[in-house]
Amino acid sequence: MKITFLGTGTSTGVPSIGCGCETCLSDDPRDKRLRVSILVEHGGTKILVDTSIDFRQQALRAKIDRLDAVLITHCHVDHVFGLDDIRPLNFRHGAMGIYANEIAWTDLRRIFQYIFKPTHFGGGLPQLVPHTVVDGAPFMIGDEIEITPLEVIHGKLPVIAYRFNNFAYATDLNYISDETIAGLQDLDVLILDCVRIKTHNTHLGLNEALDYIGQINPKRTYLTHLNHDIMYSRDSRLLPDNVEFAYDGLVIE
Ligand SMILES: [Zn+2]
Ligand SMILES: [Zn+2]
Repeated sequence: MKITFLGTGTSTGVPSIGCGCETCLSDDPRDKRLRVSILVEHGGTKILVDTSIDFRQQALRAKIDRLDAVLITHCHVDHVFGLDDIRPLNFRHGAMGIYANEIAWTDLRRIFQYIFKPTHFGGGLPQLVPHTVVDGAPFMIGDEIEITPLEVIHGKLPVIAYRFNNFAYATDLNYISDETIAGLQDLDVLILDCVRIKTHNTHLGLNEALDYIGQINPKRTYLTHLNHDIMYSRDSRLLPDNVEFAYDGLVIE
């Protein structure tokens, strides 16, 4: 299984518009963060997690030429506003499945009403086959990837973390239930939310992230959804050996 970090930044991206902080002025490419998204590839199957607001740029940069499915963690702008840019892949390969939980579907159908309830003439709409995921109910994409949706909490919003075989992606959360922690055991790789060093209302700060990593105990963890308080070279020393900050373009096998 191959995982590509298409984006590792918080909702504003890094650099943040108008900011003159050390991270935003950094020349280190690991401090340039588009909005969070990953590409998962396994046995010829390609799955995108979230159509970030930067999806077009990310797809061009990662040379994405085909997708088998899109998984949505939750319907916040940074995670879904690139959905329309899926169209060139539809033009070439037809419709694709899109997976989200029920609460995300309520917002997706409202925000993207033109896609899901087309009322006007004219072509060029995304071609999507909607599927609703349920906490703890696994499903397959292709023949080799079993995906288990696991609910986490982002402020008050139920968000879906996705487990793929021995790898899991859990972003946009500040609380993980005991049931979900049980569902995240025996992982080789965990990708986990960590918006900044300090605590936060709707995301994990570094101490909270390290606490959950202790409970989940994956072999290796990559922290994502990073804001400009985190500077890669300066702050990596705060992390234990088996934890690192993700950065855009990082590929892990
Ligand atoms: Zn987010
Ligand atoms: Zn800044």
